[in-house]
Amino acid sequence: MKNIQTIITMCAFTFCLACGCTNCNNGQLPLKEGSLEEVYLTETTTDFSFWAPTANEVVLNLYHDGAKGEPFNTIKLKRHKDGSWRTSIEGNLTGIFYTFKAKIGEKWLEETPGIFARATGVNGARAAIVDFRALNPQGWDEDKAPLPSSFNDIILYELHHRDFSIDPSSGITNRGKFLALTEKGTTNAKGASTGIDHLKELGVTHIHLMPSYDYSSVDEEHLERNEYNWGYDPVNYNTPEGSYSTDPFDPTVRIKEFKQMVKALHEAGICVVMDVVYNHLSDAGSSAFERSVPGYFFRMKEDGGYADASGCGNETASEREMMRRFMVESVVRWVKEYHIDGFRFDLMGIHDITTMNQIRKALDEISPNIVIYGEGWAASTPAFDADSMAMKANIYRMPGIAAFSDELRDAIRGPFSNDEKAGFFAVEEDLRESIKFGIAGAIEHPQIDYSKVNYTDRAWAAEPSQMISYVSCHDDLCLVDRIKASLGNPDEKEIIKLDKLAQTIVFTSQGIPFIYAGEEVFRNKKGVHNTFKSPDDVNAINWNNKTRYRDLFEYYQGLIALRKAHPAFRLASADLVRKHLEFLPSDNIGVVAFALNANAGGDVSERIVVIFNANDQKVDVDIPAGDYIAVCAKGKIDLAGLFTVSSDRVRVGAREALILCSNL
Ligand code: CA
Repeated sequence: MKNIQTIITMCAFTFCLACGCTNCNNGQLPLKEGSLEEVYLTETTTDFSFWAPTANEVVLNLYHDGAKGEPFNTIKLKRHKDGSWRTSIEGNLTGIFYTFKAKIGEKWLEETPGIFARATGVNGARAAIVDFRALNPQGWDEDKAPLPSSFNDIILYELHHRDFSIDPSSGITNRGKFLALTEKGTTNAKGASTGIDHLKELGVTHIHLMPSYDYSSVDEEHLERNEYNWGYDPVNYNTPEGSYSTDPFDPTVRIKEFKQMVKALHEAGICVVMDVVYNHLSDAGSSAFERSVPGYFFRMKEDGGYADASGCGNETASEREMMRRFMVESVVRWVKEYHIDGFRFDLMGIHDITTMNQIRKALDEISPNIVIYGEGWAASTPAFDADSMAMKANIYRMPGIAAFSDELRDAIRGPFSNDEKAGFFAVEEDLRESIKFGIAGAIEHPQIDYSKVNYTDRAWAAEPSQMISYVSCHDDLCLVDRIKASLGNPDEKEIIKLDKLAQTIVFTSQGIPFIYAGEEVFRNKKGVHNTFKSPDDVNAINWNNKTRYRDLFEYYQGLIALRKAHPAFRLASADLVRKHLEFLPSDNIGVVAFALNANAGGDVSERIVVIFNANDQKVDVDIPAGDYIAVCAKGKIDLAGLFTVSSDRVRVGAREALILCSNL
C-alpha cells in the first residue's frame, strides 16, 4: 500500500496549487505560531486567529445568539504567513457568538466554530466569547487535587453522569447534571448515602467521567426528551457538554458548573479523570477540522474516503503536526482551566506513540501524577504505520501511560466476542496463565507461560502501573448481566459470590484497579449488551440497591480498604513484583494462588497468601506453612481478621477467594 503520509502531503499540495497559496513549501503546510486558540481577549481588543492555510478567503461572522438569527457583522480576515487568518476588533466582545467560514478554491465551506472553541452556544454550532476569569467558583485558585504520589495507589471508578444520578432513588436534586457531583448529604429512601458521599464511603481515589466534552447525540435544545447517549461522538473537544448543564443556551453555565463539580470532588478527596475521544469526530464532513483544512486532520483511504479504524466513520491523524499539537494543547487546557487530574484515551491505538509521549511530557511539566491510560486497541487496523501506533503491544515504549488488560478481563468473565461463554468461572478451559498475567500487572514474570496467555504472547508493560485491571466497564454486558448470560442464569446468591470473586482478582492484581459505577450495588442493565443509547430505565443505577445489597457494597468497600492497607498489592516497580510475587503450584484449572512474600512494598504482613477458587465445590490448597489470619473468606472482608489459620494447607469454599495475612 502507498504510504499514507505521501498521499496527504500530495493532497495538501494540490489544494495549495488550486488556491494559489504561496506559503506552501514542497507541499508542507505552514504551521501556526503559538497556541491553536482562536480568540483572545485583551484590555482593548478581541483578536481572532483561524488556521486555514489552504483557504484563499476566510470570513468571521458575529452573532448575538448562540443558534438563531443572522450575523450582525461579517468580517474578512487577513492571511498571515503562518497559515492562520486574523483580525483584531476593538472592544471586549464577551457575550458575542462567532463562526468562521473558509473558501477553498471556488467553494465556500459551511460555517464552523473552529477546532479550538472553548465555549459554545446550544448544541455547539457557534463559538462564544466568555471571560473565563469571571467563571471560577469561589476558592478556585486554592483548589488542589488530592493526587496520589504513585499511579499504583489509584482506584478508578467509571461513571456516566446520567447513570449515576438520574434515578430518583439517588435523592439528588440536579439529577443527570454536573452539579449532581456537588451535592452532599444525599441518600436513598433508606438513608444510605448516594452521590459524592457514596464515592467517599466506597473509597475510590479517582472518578473517570465518561465523555463530558461537547458531543452530538443529545439535542441540547430539547432536554425534556430525556435523550441518553454515552457521548462517544465528539463535536467540540474543548467545551463541556451542554446537556449536563442546567442551561445549555448560556455558554457560561456549563463552564461554571463543570468547575464547581471538580472543586467539590477535590474537596471530597477525589480526583477527576476525563474520557477523551480524539480518535474520531461525530461526523468528519461537518466537523470543525474538515471545515478548516479539508483532508488534513483525518487519515484518508486511497479512494479518497475517510479511513475508519474507529468504526465510527473516520479516524484522526495524530501523526500530523497540527493534530498532534491540538491534542497536546487540548489536554493541557483541561488541566489548567478545569483542574482535571487524568485522561482515559478512547481507542488510543488509533493515535501514534510520539503523540502520546508528547502528551505525557506536556502533562509531566504540570504534574507527573496526572494519570494517562487508554484502550490499547482500535476497532480495525488504523491507516498508518503499525509499528508507530499506541497499541497495547507498544505500551512499554510509552512510559507513564497505561492500557486496559483485556487478557485479565476476558480470562475472568469470558471473551468479548461471545456473551454466553464464561471464562475462569466455567472451569472448562485452562485460563490460569491469563489470570496470572493480570495479577502480575502485565509485566515480565518468570512464572508465567506467555504462550498460554490469551490475546498476547508476551508481557507488554514495563511497569505494573501501565496496566489497568478490570472485569467490566461501560462496554459489553455489565458484570451481573455477564455472569447471568455466561453461566446459565444462576441464582442471585451464586451471582453475588461470582461477582465478589471477580472483583477480588481485580483488586489483588498489581497495576491500577478499575470498576464500573454501580457494580458495587449489584447494578444490572437488563441484559442489554450495548447500552450507548438505551433509555434511563436500562442505564440508571438504582440506589435503593445499596440497602438491599449492603453485603455486596461492604465487600467492594472492603476490597478497596484491603488494597489501601496493604502496599503488597500495589508494588511500585516490575522488579519489586518479580522479587515478591510468587505463584503457588496448583493442579486444578479452577484455582489460582499466589503469595506476596518478604513484607512486599514495606507491607506490615511478612507474607500474604491469595487463593481464587472458581470451582463450584470447595478445594484444599497447599500454602507456605505459617500462622495467618484470614482477612477475606466466605464472601466477607475484615482487615482485623475473620479467623486464624496455622497450617500448610487450607480449604477454600466454592467460588470464593481466601486471603491470608501473616504477622499482623
Ligand atoms: Ca452537545
